[in-house]
Amino acid sequence: TGGDRMSNQNPVFIPGPTNMPDRLRLKMLAQTMDHRAPDFAGVFRPMLEDTKKVFGTAEGEVIAFPGSGTGGWEAAVANTLSPGDKVLVARYGLFSHKWIDLCQRFGLDMQVIDVPWGEGAPAARFEEILSADTGHEIKVVLVTHNETATGVLSDVGAVRRAMDAARHPAMMFVDCVSSLASVPFHFDAWGVDVAVSGSQKGFMLPAGMAITCVSKKAMAATEHARLPRCYFDFRDMLASNAKGGFPYTPPLQLIYGMREALDMLFEEGLEAVYARHVRLAEGVRRAVSAWGMELVAASPDLYSPTVSAVRVPEGFDSNALTEHAYIAYGVSFGVGLGQLDGKAFRIGHLGMLTDVMVLSGLATVEMAMADLGYPVRLGSGVAAAQEHYRSSRGAGALRD
Ligand code: PLP
Repeated sequence: TGGDRMSNQNPVFIPGPTNMPDRLRLKMLAQTMDHRAPDFAGVFRPMLEDTKKVFGTAEGEVIAFPGSGTGGWEAAVANTLSPGDKVLVARYGLFSHKWIDLCQRFGLDMQVIDVPWGEGAPAARFEEILSADTGHEIKVVLVTHNETATGVLSDVGAVRRAMDAARHPAMMFVDCVSSLASVPFHFDAWGVDVAVSGSQKGFMLPAGMAITCVSKKAMAATEHARLPRCYFDFRDMLASNAKGGFPYTPPLQLIYGMREALDMLFEEGLEAVYARHVRLAEGVRRAVSAWGMELVAASPDLYSPTVSAVRVPEGFDSNALTEHAYIAYGVSFGVGLGQLDGKAFRIGHLGMLTDVMVLSGLATVEMAMADLGYPVRLGSGVAAAQEHYRSSRGAGALRD
């Protein structure tokens, strides 16, 4: 049937892990090499240096280590904070919620602002709270740049301006797991202290590496932070990295894959990569609108270039839709998470994707919806996206 994934050649439309370019897969077939041999440092050090370009930093240090985004969250707090330290954060989706949960398990004192899902980081509220914190008890502000559960991209620059307006010395940690390498990131200009990402989204690799960037201020905080840490200790990592090595056995194939991913991103050009994501996302949104459906994201300024969360009409179950798309057609979409369970599905549009690939995803959603009796006309969303892709060709097209 159409659901046989044949040789697994259908793209995935989950918002990570993303489709892997063959070029990266081949690179990761590399035979075992000695990570203590001099060639390793010759790949590893330049890889870290080049990753700084993606973070937008000259000041920060990139630290990449075995783990995933969650390991990056843990490393960020365990390295810089002490039990009972006060943390300011807003919850606006499942991933911001999970970072809060991790901090609570570490015994941090969380001041959580609950924001309706579909909105983003509330810079004005942060400014009020930070201004009132005259004793500077708040040690860090956490921001989830791209909330993958809702398809909302927050304005990190606005949070920085709020912190500056409040003249507050807290650090700022940013989760850029589903934005880095797909959406511009300005570590230095935004004054970020720890940025947390992973290998499996914009870098188009398998999961397995946490990719973080750490400021001098955050590194200074590691000296007096009292939360327990060992495997994730940034000081051990930086000391070994400086000599071109690792404090333990590195995931060699992922590091070679990362080198190749950076080459691919730079060959396309980071600006072109970002423009391609904006363009692909707009085509998806036009399809959603042609279906007469609503995004979870509350307003256009919040629309994510990497993932769209789409509310299904009243009386329909989004889980039935994603399950049917997979079983009948062999194509995966993101399920609704947390309070959106059953109410929304997600179309991931990040990483290695072309116009044609996205159109195939939209066509699949239409077939699955038609099978389940949704009030959509086959081809309506596809046509809306086709119009957009045809008329905006050249503006960030993968190839001209
Ligand atoms: N943060 C965001 C925004 C995410 O989308 C994810 C995963 O999808 C995570 C954190 C958790 O990362 P991981 O699953 O790599 O541990």
